[in-house]
Amino acid sequence: MIPSINMVTTKEILDTIESGGHRPTASRRRVLDAVVARGDGFTAEELVAEVKGLGRATIYRTVRLLLKEGLLCKLSLQDGAPRYTLFHRLGHHHHLVCVGCGVVQEFRQSVIEQMLMNLEASGTGTIMGHRIEVYVLCPACLPKVGS
Ligand SMILES: [Zn+2]
Ligand SMILES: [Zn+2]
Ligand SMILES: [Zn+2]
Repeated sequence: MIPSINMVTTKEILDTIESGGHRPTASRRRVLDAVVARGDGFTAEELVAEVKGLGRATIYRTVRLLLKEGLLCKLSLQDGAPRYTLFHRLGHHHHLVCVGCGVVQEFRQSVIEQMLMNLEASGTGTIMGHRIEVYVLCPACLPKVGS
């Protein structure tokens, strides 16, 4: 169900940042390394805890820069701080978020897009965009709950 994902490398992210007119400074690199190492869902505060010796403001600024350059997806969870995840070249996609551990996976489902086209055709108005976040207990967390 989950398509295999080509992970983005730090180098590719730095290239994107540079072509956006931003210098790949040493502190940005360090934040990026932490982001790539995580890969899955993380909060800005978790990055602050992980990247030692860099100011909170620098880390938050870097996260905002990555968002602006389209390199991160931002997920608004029902509770807690927004989580971020690397954009994995899938193009338009949706998210599965584990409520147990916060791991984020991306998926595409043509049936959903078709349903929205039908909805639009039924006279709702022109759909300008949508986001879908599905809350799951991932296979790793499932055994820890109940039974
Ligand atoms: Zn995403
Ligand atoms: Zn989980
Ligand atoms: Zn969609």
